[in-house]
Amino acid sequence: MQIDFANLQYQYELYKDEIDTAMQAVLDKANYIMGDEVRELEDNLQNFTGAKHAITCSSGTDALLLAMMALDIEPGDEIITTSFTFIATAETIAFLKAKPVFVDIDEKTYNIDASKIEEKITPKTKAIIPVSLYGQPADMDTIQSIANKHNLKVIVDGAQSFGSTYKDKTDSNLGDISCTSFFPAKPLGCFGDGGAVFTNSDELAAKIKMLRTHGQNKRYHHKYIGMGGRMDTLQCAVVNVKLRHYKKDLALRQEVAAKYTKALQGKDMILPEVEKNRTSAWAQYSVRVKNRDTVQANFKEKGIPAAVHYPMPLHLQECFQYLGYIKGDFPISELISDEIMSLPMNPYVTDEEISYMSEQF
Ligand SMILES: *Cc1c(COP(=O)(O)O)cnc(C)c1O
Repeated sequence: MQIDFANLQYQYELYKDEIDTAMQAVLDKANYIMGDEVRELEDNLQNFTGAKHAITCSSGTDALLLAMMALDIEPGDEIITTSFTFIATAETIAFLKAKPVFVDIDEKTYNIDASKIEEKITPKTKAIIPVSLYGQPADMDTIQSIANKHNLKVIVDGAQSFGSTYKDKTDSNLGDISCTSFFPAKPLGCFGDGGAVFTNSDELAAKIKMLRTHGQNKRYHHKYIGMGGRMDTLQCAVVNVKLRHYKKDLALRQEVAAKYTKALQGKDMILPEVEKNRTSAWAQYSVRVKNRDTVQANFKEKGIPAAVHYPMPLHLQECFQYLGYIKGDFPISELISDEIMSLPMNPYVTDEEISYMSEQF
């Protein structure tokens, strides 16, 4: 058996007619930049998430940059975030010459441990960036109340969690600004790079739209220092089609996760858990094993792809050495980095594949 990790090719075949038609329409109009499909996607994203504004952009990374630029994050500002996430979360903070301040994670959800945030707040702290890791939102009530108390902004890094919920709100509709990614392997992916920024603030939305197009408020008139951060019309056309099917695809991902949990129950590993009042978009189904190298080697032999998200926490990354963290600073992040392993996850994982994989443990 050879199992596919994200099964993107299969998904394209499923929606091929609709996707080809949508892409061809863009080619026929040659409206490659900011064509009708861009506005259409933004409307559709607003409807899906309940957020007042959805602004598409060039990637999840650029969505984070746009969010911080819109909030006037400046050199020297401190931004609190998790030490266990994809590099982009903290890289963008450092890119703006602000300072990432890491907090360890909760051992159950792998998200930022909200009870450890307050001790990191200083007069320079401007914002908190929780990440909805593997698709599950963080402890948003606690984070939001800390932010309110200390007058901080909250930016949700929802790159892995489009469509997930926290107390019945989608995670695009949490915090001051929420960001997502349409990188192909994310739960809702395009055919290249893409992303979106969400907010309920008219003022922030207007500013983000300007920042996305070189800070311009009128053609060749530039109010802000911005960036070339638009999402291609072609990519928007693809996401428009996939979004039509996304409710069903998300339900299938949740079904696959439930089947994994059932099949792996009682094996020598720690299974992922979703907190009450939250749902996950299941970007990854990640388990903890003690002997990861052996398991991975065996998987490889048996035709099962596995990935590690992530093998090294951010405070130990070479690029962040200048921040002065050392091994032992965030023990839970370090432990999880050593044990975590993601199994193939997509809406189309079959029962046969799940039982074949569970037999390997
Ligand atoms: C993928 C990802 C990003 C970046 O998204 P891109 O579209 O690849 O730039 C940011 N944060 C997290 C947590 C991610 O998983």
